[in-house]
Amino acid sequence: MSADRVPPSTDHPAPGERLDFDEIAGSDQTSWARADPEAALIESTGRYGYRVTLPDGDAHLVAVAREHGEHVGTCDCEGWEYNDGPCAHLCTVRKAAFAGVEDVEGDSVMIPRVDLDAHSTDERAVADGGFVDQAQRTDATGGRR
Ligand SMILES: [Zn+2]
Repeated sequence: MSADRVPPSTDHPAPGERLDFDEIAGSDQTSWARADPEAALIESTGRYGYRVTLPDGDAHLVAVAREHGEHVGTCDCEGWEYNDGPCAHLCTVRKAAFAGVEDVEGDSVMIPRVDLDAHSTDERAVADGGFVDQAQRTDATGGRR
């Protein structure tokens, strides 16, 4: 927070480590196949946090975000701890966000972007309003896809 012009480092992806959803999306990997956002209970617990309960499992706390076009996140379950790649809970949030599934409060599940956060907070300090925010958004997405 002290160095205000340093872009967010990819070495410190908040909140967790890089998730390779592309690797397993659509595959028959257990975690991806098990993830059923319609059947799961998804509760928002914070900016990046969700509590995910799969029909055949316990509630687990997930944190997931997007940084520089990549997903980053973590989960407190054993599947995440002992296996490579995203666990069923992370896959559930990913699928839910993609399909526009709502959480228990009726809000659409979203995966927030941490890189935009970091920029817009800075910019708001010097220029108020959403103008700069909008420019940042265009800037951040333009040329990336
Ligand atoms: Zn998990």
